[in-house]
Amino acid sequence: MPRQLTISIDGPAGSGKSSVARRIAALLGYSYLDSGAMYRALALKALERKVALSDEARLEALAKETHIELKPPTPELEVAGAKNRVFLDGREVTHGIRAPEVAQAASRLATVAGVRRVLVAEQQRAGAGGSVVMEGRDIGTVVFPNAELKIFLDASPEVRAERRWKEHQEKDEKFTLAEVLDEVRERDRRDRERKVSPLVRAADAVLVDNTAMGIEETARLIVMLARERQDELAGTAAGRHRAS
Ligand code: C5P
Repeated sequence: MPRQLTISIDGPAGSGKSSVARRIAALLGYSYLDSGAMYRALALKALERKVALSDEARLEALAKETHIELKPPTPELEVAGAKNRVFLDGREVTHGIRAPEVAQAASRLATVAGVRRVLVAEQQRAGAGGSVVMEGRDIGTVVFPNAELKIFLDASPEVRAERRWKEHQEKDEKFTLAEVLDEVRERDRRDRERKVSPLVRAADAVLVDNTAMGIEETARLIVMLARERQDELAGTAAGRHRAS
């Protein structure tokens, strides 16, 4: 049985992380975890309770008293493009967390160190069993720095905005491409410039630019890298075995 890997996929909004990560998980029989959904769920709660996004102490306290659970989507939700099913203190918020105002709020509370500490610990627990593809912004750098395969996925801002815009269109949400491009640029800037765990490529992450590649092609390329990594690790283990 090949060695089971932890695969991290980091990258900016619209880089295709979710679709690609889900496809890789399906091809390898791994579980898929969307860490961004946790930031979004907490942001939804903060918005509902009217907690100021500048109040770091209250946001950290809110994170500590919140229970967020990610589950695999039902087959119907999967067809509709849902990532994980997301439960906020036992209430399903799978769709509610996808609103653009929740995304913006998530990227604001994601700058708070205390909030990140709580959510990172949750993510580490959720992925502790291995055989997992986890996507986010700091998975290869902070959450799983020892992941056996790290990918940094990127694409041009215009292509990323267009992908997000198409998702909105499919849900009948009326945003212009320019509005979506602004939203993506704003979030990217905040994610890259924040002091705690900014979005950066880990030194040992493979950079995959999929501006001109589809989801299937990107996923299959990464599955090939995963198989190589498994062989490499099996070789190292066999080498150790022979030497002892
Ligand atoms: O990936 P998604 O767009 O759903 O993430 C929403 C926001 O959550 C991001 O813009 C980012 O600010 C934050 N996030 C993060 N670290 C992660 C995942 C998401 O800071 N690992």
